[in-house]
Amino acid sequence: MKSDIQIAQEAEMMHIRDVAASAGIPEEDLEFYGKYKAKLSDELWEKIRDRKDGKLVLVTAINPTPAGEGKTTTTVGLGQAMAKLGQKAIIALREPSLGPCFGIKGGAAGGGYAQVVPMEDLNLHFTGDFHAITSANNLLAALLDNHIQQGNELGIDPRQVVWKRCLDMNDRSLRNIVIGLGRKADGMVREDHFVITVASEIMAILCLADDMKDLKERLGRIIVAYNFKGEPVTADDLHATGAMAALLKDAIKPNLIQTLEHTPALVHGGPFANIAHGCNSVRATRMALKLSDITITEAGFGADLGAEKFMDIKCRMAGFKPDAVVLVATVRALKYNGGVAKDQLSEENLDALAKGIVNLEKHIENVQKYDVPVVVTLNSFVTDTEAEIAYVRSFCEERGCEFALSEVWEKGGEGGIALAEKVLETLENKESHFHPLYEDNLCLKAKIETISKEIYGARGVVYEPAAEKQLAKIEGMGFGSFPVCMAKNQYSLSDDATRLGRPENFDIHIREVYVNAGAGFVVALTGAVMTMPGLPKVPAANGIDVSEDGHITGLF
Ligand code: ADP
Ligand code: MG
Repeated sequence: MKSDIQIAQEAEMMHIRDVAASAGIPEEDLEFYGKYKAKLSDELWEKIRDRKDGKLVLVTAINPTPAGEGKTTTTVGLGQAMAKLGQKAIIALREPSLGPCFGIKGGAAGGGYAQVVPMEDLNLHFTGDFHAITSANNLLAALLDNHIQQGNELGIDPRQVVWKRCLDMNDRSLRNIVIGLGRKADGMVREDHFVITVASEIMAILCLADDMKDLKERLGRIIVAYNFKGEPVTADDLHATGAMAALLKDAIKPNLIQTLEHTPALVHGGPFANIAHGCNSVRATRMALKLSDITITEAGFGADLGAEKFMDIKCRMAGFKPDAVVLVATVRALKYNGGVAKDQLSEENLDALAKGIVNLEKHIENVQKYDVPVVVTLNSFVTDTEAEIAYVRSFCEERGCEFALSEVWEKGGEGGIALAEKVLETLENKESHFHPLYEDNLCLKAKIETISKEIYGARGVVYEPAAEKQLAKIEGMGFGSFPVCMAKNQYSLSDDATRLGRPENFDIHIREVYVNAGAGFVVALTGAVMTMPGLPKVPAANGIDVSEDGHITGLF
């Protein structure tokens, strides 16, 4: 069996000019990054902005397991299948971070015969967006520390600096550091922290900004620290906004690449799905909606995190209305949820499937709460048995939701025809009455409770005293109308990663709350959330190489 990178490298790519032409994008609106990558110009937006939007389809999944679900694979394969059916479809995805590429998970270009290419470029430096975001983030940090050094006119309390430096790397030793050691001219000594670039607020801002004007306003509102009186100090206060925006001038333009079957794919931005909202940029999705009849996009982690934030944060802010949701499950992951050990997932086990399928059931119910039609798809693995597939199919049909088997990993677009037909049928016959889960004017606590009870199935919410205080302060600062971005482990519907399936009788514990004033949401942390991952004992990086003629191996 060929590896993802082998399949990707054997692909014959089309010049990106021709891929763009197939989506009706003229060459003059492309900014080329070599032959196979291009950014879409701002002028293009002016030309297409008054067009009618196409349909918006979100791909999400059950809770992730080590068995793998395949959201990106399904998103790409569905796009390829739509093209095979003669539909004008565009795929909208996130850009991968270097952290997971060199760590455990590997890249994020899809898998098998459902991938976007050039996968090495996408997984490594791509068009430099993440470098630009890292630079803008660290410029703000440098300006802040310089302000303190130069007399601290704003009265920044060095113990209440909330802005962190960032790097697109899994590097645990940067989580907690001391800066400013040395002589007087070497800066003020204080404790500092690094987050991975995808966890930077600038990443979230770039992905939610409508245009340069909105980007600048959001950057300016970033709270970097509190002063000795406890009042917020912003990026605008440090006069940092203009220079940060200048660094992001090209990074806010969506990137165009192609699938193995030349379907256009807009791959842009990549915020974390825990402390941020986990979706590609609003600008890319918006362009895709104008350029295609069907936009297929993915949200990170399971539907409890990814789809909830897609609906309640991204769609709310951008005014998008999803027309259908594709919910990805695998027999392996459902059996894992039913208690089967990781090394026994290849054996047929209908009892475990029946036990674990309650996880899928809860996610179906959750998506239905947004009044958007659901299509469940089984991402088929070669180890799945007929009986197992039949069980999942009838489970879905009994719950009034559409079902299709997807074999895109093995067969590319051809293997996604059944799914594409089900999605088209759904778009035609079932109307979406999309609405967010909660209203803006609910207080922050009521929002947290709504998400916890309705989506996670919690009994209630327990706040640590510090979180109570933070919530009151944030409401007092005037941010009570923001949506809440829940940071929870992705493996369980509860905040205990070991409780699989459909847990009951549990509380959600809110440990810390803070506001991302630029991104425009309030982050509520349940348990400890890692914003700077570490590398495993044997990192994927150990297996990556490049030959003397520039041929990369070992990326997956
Ligand atoms: P997600 O987007 O949900 O994180 P991906 O689509 O990135 O998942 O897939 C994760 C990994 O699983 C990839 O390496 C991919 O090749 C593999 N994978 C996905 N679907 C299948 C499948 N049907 N059979 C075998 N491997 C698969
Ligand atoms: Mg993915």
